Amino acid sequence: MSAAISGSTRLAGVIGDPVRHSLSPALLNAAFGAAGLDWVYVAFPVAEGGAPSALDSMRLLDIGGLSVTMPHKEAVAAAVDRCSPAAAALRAVNCVRREGDVLVGENTDGEGFVRSLVGELGVTPGDRRCVVLGAGGAGRAVVKALADAGAAEVVVVNRTESKAVAAADLAGSRGRTGSRADVSAADIVVNSTPMGMAERGDLPLAADDLREGQVVVDLVYHPLVTPLLEIADAAGARTMNGLGMLLHQAAIQFELWTDHGAPIGAMRQAALDELASR
Ligand code: NAP
Repeated sequence: MSAAISGSTRLAGVIGDPVRHSLSPALLNAAFGAAGLDWVYVAFPVAEGGAPSALDSMRLLDIGGLSVTMPHKEAVAAAVDRCSPAAAALRAVNCVRREGDVLVGENTDGEGFVRSLVGELGVTPGDRRCVVLGAGGAGRAVVKALADAGAAEVVVVNRTESKAVAAADLAGSRGRTGSRADVSAADIVVNSTPMGMAERGDLPLAADDLREGQVVVDLVYHPLVTPLLEIADAAGARTMNGLGMLLHQAAIQFELWTDHGAPIGAMRQAALDELASR
């Protein structure tokens, strides 16, 4: 956040319901402050059905950027003037930027995920065999981004088969649906379900499914070390939690709005401080 709010301070924010628990204000205000930009970022509780009005408000109040979270991602994709290719393919928007009066819907989740793989682990998806567990909003974004980044194959494993099929389609000829039996052959395994957050018995995979040398990512970031990451670590896999994706998808939003490189170190520290206080 800038040191003092003035008449020229730019406003950005996040719309969602619920939204008061969002980490985005901590992340983005830390980024504006570290970059020395006169911007401030707030949370706007907007009930389901309110996305078109929120976009009208963005135009009217000259809001510089909006993040979008549940339950508005699909409604915003339908209501913006134009969608980026990723947002159009996913039919979901997590970030709105302005081109003058034109509101452009973006989806930074998938690119944020790939950037986190590269930035945090030094792993590129090119020619890798990938398995994605889950086919919801996060899973779909990851499937598409892995395929776009050149993965050899992206196998989607999901409880509801029809959603697995739709997600695998996002990877084109390199996508298919599969089962837990596909996990041991994969180079990169991504859990995009909330399974295992509460109880160890609810884990999506067992230690036997995993092996040394694999990369195992759990998109959950609270707790930072999930039971799945613990068993993956014990199996000799390289592991990453969801904090990297959270940081990098926010960093891309910052860059889209401001044209400045994101101060990722300040954003990471703000996220860790905020999570530690919860
Ligand atoms: P979502 O759209 O609700 O999708 C949830 C997915 O998990 C669906 O595929 C669902 O399967 C599956 N699932 C849920 N409960 C299950 C269970 N008990 N057994 C088997 N499958 C189950 O949610 P989302 O937005 O994609 O988020 C998914 C996870 O990713 C959450 O833990 C969220 O916190 C995390 N996330 C992290 C980031 C980040 O930046 N790190 C960003 C977004 C989300 P069905 O299709 O069968 O219902």
